[in-house]
Amino acid sequence: MQLELFPNSQKKKYKLLSLSSGSSGNCYYLGSSDRGILIDVGIGIRTIKKHLREYGVALESIMGVLVTHDHTDHIKSVSAFGGKMNIPIYATEAVHNGITRNRFCTEAINAPSRRVIQKGVSFSIFDFEVTAFDVPHDSIENVGYQIKVDGQTIVLATDIGRITDEITLYAKTANHLIFESNYDIDMLRNGSYPEILKRRIVSGNGHLSNEVAGEFLADIFDSHLNEIWLCHLSNDNNHPEVAFKTVQSKLEAKGIFVGKDVQLKTLLRGKPSGLKEF
Ligand SMILES: [Zn+2]
Ligand SMILES: [Zn+2]
Repeated sequence: MQLELFPNSQKKKYKLLSLSSGSSGNCYYLGSSDRGILIDVGIGIRTIKKHLREYGVALESIMGVLVTHDHTDHIKSVSAFGGKMNIPIYATEAVHNGITRNRFCTEAINAPSRRVIQKGVSFSIFDFEVTAFDVPHDSIENVGYQIKVDGQTIVLATDIGRITDEITLYAKTANHLIFESNYDIDMLRNGSYPEILKRRIVSGNGHLSNEVAGEFLADIFDSHLNEIWLCHLSNDNNHPEVAFKTVQSKLEAKGIFVGKDVQLKTLLRGKPSGLKEF
């Protein structure tokens, strides 16, 4: 079934959509009817094509891929985009090197498609003004993205080991914030993961818990923040309802009401979710 993605193109030009979110694969789309970008391509190319088509987006409209880091759940299809398809792949030098070394990236990124970016230095992809910022994680390097388009600021930060001043600075600029809420601390503690893996997840270079995400979001909330999407939820140590309620309670403890002051959504694994038009 072809869903109408741009039913009111006069008023609402842009769409933001999560194609998949979580350790089994991450991919986000932002674009207009003729031009768009992807942030991370950690699912199969056929699945990306299929999901985009379902939302009326042609693969030919993709003008670039922004990569956060070199873990496979974020780069599975990156060599397909940057190889035969010749779509520019934007990543820091370190992340590009990590992609080259990743055994799942069987095809090389073409030299002209290999676009090296620097943290804190803004660049443009057509209508999109993009700035990468540092996010601590146990990959070779990891960045979040601030994307400005049509008067809106979208900020994405995922695989967050710990909150930093830099993350705070960028998150505060968001009208629309995609932010990691990876695990519930009790579910992780009582779960079946080996101790070494549990320690990795809670470390300052691992992932962010619902509790810490919720407290952070309540701290940085400002009236220009319209919508929060909780991303990269763990399949084993979290549940969409648990993440939602934990973050909601942290927000409400500070007098910020979901549905009234801010919209809150949890993104699903393995299928499109979210969808925001502006
Ligand atoms: Zn990840
Ligand atoms: Zn990661």
